[in-house]
Amino acid sequence: MNNSNNSTMPALFIGHGSPMLTLSNNRYSRGWTEIGDKLPQLKAILVISAHWYIPELRVTAMSTPRTIHDFYGFPEELFQIEYPAPGNPELAEKVADLLLPDKLVYDYQWGLDHGTWAVLRHLYPKARVPVVQLSLDMRKTPEEHYRLGQKLTALRNEGVLIVGSGNIVHNLPGFDWRNSQKEPPGWAVEFEAWNRNKLLDGKTDELVDYLGQGEAAQLAAPSPDHYLPLLYLAALKKTEDELSFPVEGFDGGTMSMFSVLLA
Ligand code: ZN
Repeated sequence: MNNSNNSTMPALFIGHGSPMLTLSNNRYSRGWTEIGDKLPQLKAILVISAHWYIPELRVTAMSTPRTIHDFYGFPEELFQIEYPAPGNPELAEKVADLLLPDKLVYDYQWGLDHGTWAVLRHLYPKARVPVVQLSLDMRKTPEEHYRLGQKLTALRNEGVLIVGSGNIVHNLPGFDWRNSQKEPPGWAVEFEAWNRNKLLDGKTDELVDYLGQGEAAQLAAPSPDHYLPLLYLAALKKTEDELSFPVEGFDGGTMSMFSVLLA
């Protein structure tokens, strides 16, 4: 990562996986820490999380976002985690301006969901960098999500790290909670490889049309929420960016932990 002479901030897509991964020291959490160690100084983080998939375009606009424990049936330890990063109402306003003519609603209820804090607590353990979340508007098509991502590109020149947090392959019915090392099925490997190749080849139009991949796409992304954050990352790519995949692997067979870094 060579950003010392470059004012453009990197951008990230992180496969966040099961909330349990955030608790332990494993190859994924270590990989996230290593990414954080190498990132340049930044002013704020804008996260597009799979877990804020709502029929509205919203941005968190509070100065102290709460930590949301948006899951059930997990150990108490997970519910105790707090990620006390400040918000950044000024960045929320900037995002609203960039996304015009789409009307962005300022949100004071949400906060930081686990798609955000499970990863950021390893990337930025001190929680000092302000964090803002942008919702995934479920009324929009993949193409429209991609276009929104393009409009956010300007933030990369203003010290803002944009993070898409989802999972390229996210199939919960097939997920093995007891065997993290389970071999991924062929369709999962195939779909992940297809995404990697399209990213490398700059074939973003094909990524936008990911459902054209038929059964593999249906199985990998049975709902759009965990896939769409990748389209934001793809939309942020500048010609001079280099792509890398700092964290990879399958957890429980059907959860791709594949991450993408633009720098
Ligand atoms: Zn998730």
